[in-house]
Amino acid sequence: MAERKKRRFKEDNNESGIVKDKGFDKEAWKPKTELGKKVKNGDITNIDQILDRGLPILETQIVDMLLPGLQVDLLEVGQSKGKFGGGKRSIWRQTQKKSKEGNKPSFATVAICGNGNGYVGMGFGKAKETVPAREKATRKAKLNIIKIKRGCGSWECGCSQAHSIPFTVDGKCSSALFKLMPAPKGTKLCTEREAQKILRYAGINDVYGKARGQTRTKLNVMYACFDALKQLTRVKVKDKQIKQLGIVGGRNE
Ligand SMILES: [Zn+2]
Repeated sequence: MAERKKRRFKEDNNESGIVKDKGFDKEAWKPKTELGKKVKNGDITNIDQILDRGLPILETQIVDMLLPGLQVDLLEVGQSKGKFGGGKRSIWRQTQKKSKEGNKPSFATVAICGNGNGYVGMGFGKAKETVPAREKATRKAKLNIIKIKRGCGSWECGCSQAHSIPFTVDGKCSSALFKLMPAPKGTKLCTEREAQKILRYAGINDVYGKARGQTRTKLNVMYACFDALKQLTRVKVKDKQIKQLGIVGGRNE
């Protein structure tokens, strides 16, 4: 019995994190919300029209249709079981509830989606099995999509191209803090491995990152990194600065 359980877990674990794109079918989609109907009819052709007004996106198909070429990936926020204090990073965070019947495991994961050009989303999903957890996370990532500002705020570079971020931002989740700083060209993503994934999907090429505080909970660090990216959109900039820092994207275009 134990052997079978072990094998099943292994199989679950081997499932690749990459969600296969089934191909979005426009005809089969029946919009349920007003916004969805507008998107299908062609009244809304650009996702900026939704994001700039802050309208709630409640259907993933809206994002699928307006942002073709969106890629989805899972972050390694959990750890698989290992002997001798080992334990490899895994995309599933496996937890257990103790009950009278026995241990009831549940799986959680974090999905990240982005087009590598200024749009990025992140979502958390939890279920009793791995596949529904992945689906929940993917759905939430698409609904939580944000648009970020890019530019070059590095004094060492000053090229006014959108290869880095325009200014330093701080993000926070619980006691995990995350700081992103502009970097000159050629620096690449100088930060933690999983945070690199988020930044790559967002379309940032060069950046310095720094995680502080209680960084043992990887999930919180990832949320803090995403929060820092959100700050890029929240901060208001002047027209003069847009030109100077080469800012691309964001609300005050
Ligand atoms: Zn530059």
